[in-house]
Amino acid sequence: MALPGCMIVRNPTPQELSALDNPPFEVQSKVAQLLPKVEAWYSEVEIQLAPFGRPLTAEEARTAIELGVAEPEKVRVVVLDEFPMPKDEQLLGEAKKHGLGNWSEGGRSNGRVVLLKPRVAQSPAVLRHELVHLAQQDRMGRTAFLRRYLIELEMMGYARSPLELEAYARQGAH
Ligand SMILES: [Zn+2]
Repeated sequence: MALPGCMIVRNPTPQELSALDNPPFEVQSKVAQLLPKVEAWYSEVEIQLAPFGRPLTAEEARTAIELGVAEPEKVRVVVLDEFPMPKDEQLLGEAKKHGLGNWSEGGRSNGRVVLLKPRVAQSPAVLRHELVHLAQQDRMGRTAFLRRYLIELEMMGYARSPLELEAYARQGAH
């Protein structure tokens, strides 16, 4: 997910990073409970939107490879005024709490589908940001990526989540 503007945040401390690898029991149980719903919704949106997406251009595919995306030919980019939100009430509450569905949300990725708002549809930085998330998924596996992302949101918040910080660091200039 990508929000506009620059964020100045305190880098995670070594203690915080090691806590993410060993989350407290309540975080583990919350994430274990949410994960199947998140994964199902994540894949459902991917399958629904993929037929409406465009493939990457040759230049974008080169960027994707450089960022570590395994199969850039399978990536689809969909431009939407409004991004889908989960129907499940618990999931919807969690999603909103972390900024999904906000006006400020410019990009999002669901599996191999990159969602962009019309105002950032031409922004190489926002596309790169989302491609970093695809590379993270390829690197970690989808379930492990989603689990880790949920743990980071829960423990660090969006702005200090290491997966997000990596995406912001590698997205380049706007
Ligand atoms: Zn992001």
